[in-house]
Amino acid sequence: MKTPITELLGIEHPVIEGGMQWVGRAGLAAAVSEAGGLGIITALTHPTPEAFGEEIAAVRRLTEKPFGVNLTLLPTLKPVPYEAYVRVMLDAGITIVETAGRSPEPFMPAFLAAGIHVIHKCTSVRHALKAEKLGCAAVSVDGFECAGHPGEDDIPALVLLPLASDVLSIPIIASGGYGDGRGLAAALALGADAINMGTRFLATREAEIHDNVKQALVAADERQTSLILRTFHNTARIYKNRVAEEVVALEKRGDVTIEELAPLVSGMRGAEVYKTGDLDAGVWTAGMVAGLIHDIPTVQELVHRIVAEAEALIRERLCGVLI
Ligand code: NAD
Repeated sequence: MKTPITELLGIEHPVIEGGMQWVGRAGLAAAVSEAGGLGIITALTHPTPEAFGEEIAAVRRLTEKPFGVNLTLLPTLKPVPYEAYVRVMLDAGITIVETAGRSPEPFMPAFLAAGIHVIHKCTSVRHALKAEKLGCAAVSVDGFECAGHPGEDDIPALVLLPLASDVLSIPIIASGGYGDGRGLAAALALGADAINMGTRFLATREAEIHDNVKQALVAADERQTSLILRTFHNTARIYKNRVAEEVVALEKRGDVTIEELAPLVSGMRGAEVYKTGDLDAGVWTAGMVAGLIHDIPTVQELVHRIVAEAEALIRERLCGVLI
């Protein structure tokens, strides 16, 4: 498949790994890039800018293919030295950056001066238009189905993608809810030029997380997610476990503070889930696409299967309905 995104990023298949806190590490990112997609390592997964720099070097030891880095700009429990993480990207000669959460405006002059392709992930048409105006090379448009932060408008991809493609000139990556070739073919039909997958890549052999998490995704249906932090206008879709249910119950009270929730929603605590396999150790991110996950293939098998399925679907089913 050849799309404006495969051309822009120099990749073989229109399949991109989403920025995933605690999961976007070198091994998985390199595997996605080696499979012909675009692997992405997540800056804030690494406790210091120096550690992040080492992870970039680790990806380069594993692949010579293009890869990107994610920089998430959202409220955090502890201050993050964003400028230092950005300096590491610039010094390392990174060529593709995925920003998410807030507008990347403060960092755009530095990114553009370095010739970096910035992909801004956003959940509304108005934010996508702003990203285009700022000089982003592409946008990743996240529908309400997505894991992580779906925004506050709750618009699913079926409406959001066509609306975005009606008004944008830059390429669009469809994000949220993708996990198979049907999703890829649908995304292309809706006006996108590639798909972005997070949860689906969690359930692969190369994801450096405990097997219990992968098995939980295979077992989960599409209703196994919760929306938390709605009352803080910082909604996050996570796997529905005991901690998620406790957070939702506290938010229903109406007067809960972030200080009260912090011990429950803390990312550091959530990281224990991936490390130990205790699914109730903290909150962990997953999307509705869990309902479509039935196996734990290698990244190569997964990417090739998705592309082959989409190709067959377009050739046989979609062309087949024409008379
Ligand atoms: P953290 O431990 O600092 O915070 C935990 C959660 O609480 C996060 O969702 C954060 O956005 C939220 N939060 C913190 N302070 C808040 C406030 N004052 N008001 C409202 N919400 C608040 O975060 P972390 O888990 O270490 O993650 C670091 C960054 O990565 C955060 O920006 C987080 O949102 C983001 N993240 C991204 C993904 C992804 O899939 N892209 C997944 C998890 C987290």
